[in-house]
Amino acid sequence: MDEITQDKCRELRGMLAQAGYAVFFGGAGVSTDSGLVDFRSQKRGLYNRPSEYSASPEEMLTPKFYEENPEEFFDFYRTKLLNLAAPPNSVHYALAEMERAGVIKCVITQNADNLHQRAGSENVIDIHGNVYINTCEGCGRRFPPEAVADCPGVPRCGVCGGVIRPGILLFGEVPDMKLAMAAIREINRSDLLIAGGTSLKVSSAPRLLDRYRGKLVIINDEPTPYDSRADLVINAGISEVFARIWP
Ligand SMILES: [Zn+2]
Repeated sequence: MDEITQDKCRELRGMLAQAGYAVFFGGAGVSTDSGLVDFRSQKRGLYNRPSEYSASPEEMLTPKFYEENPEEFFDFYRTKLLNLAAPPNSVHYALAEMERAGVIKCVITQNADNLHQRAGSENVIDIHGNVYINTCEGCGRRFPPEAVADCPGVPRCGVCGGVIRPGILLFGEVPDMKLAMAAIREINRSDLLIAGGTSLKVSSAPRLLDRYRGKLVIINDEPTPYDSRADLVINAGISEVFARIWP
């Protein structure tokens, strides 16, 4: 890490110490160190790799593809998305400790991997869903992620035979209104918002950020559309930055 970036990390430490209500808003970059796939990144993104499937990942993760090609959808979901063996990493653990210390009040995440919760964070808003919440389309029963992970083909409810749908937001779907409202409330309440490991190109970003007036810090290894609006931009890997700001 170069000296300018180190200085910026020190500045962020100072901002965290001064903040009354700091919120962390994270994306795929937070989970890549856990071995999970980053969808949109130019360098490592799943979309920029050749695929062995009949459609692009972006098409496969639409409600239409899910309805029309459930076998292929679930094969892709299990093989490329669901990774229950992936452990939380240093950033997840740091954020959980920061919450216990009162330094961070809430984590809003675009990741559906449940790793913040597994690391111990309590106030987590999964705006794009959570792979641990799986619901039968027939009777509404809830199932653990293993019910989807450990079966061949399309996972079905043992009671009514309905398809068990993973609790993730598919492309083109509107985020759950309750979760979106909760995220907006937390952001509007905060005086320091740290957006980390996200390109801020997801469709929910404008709704969450456009009316935010507090201090904004962006940590990402690529530029984002909000860099000019930010009080501090740190172009570095999120785990390197967290190693310098916590503990
Ligand atoms: Zn059922």
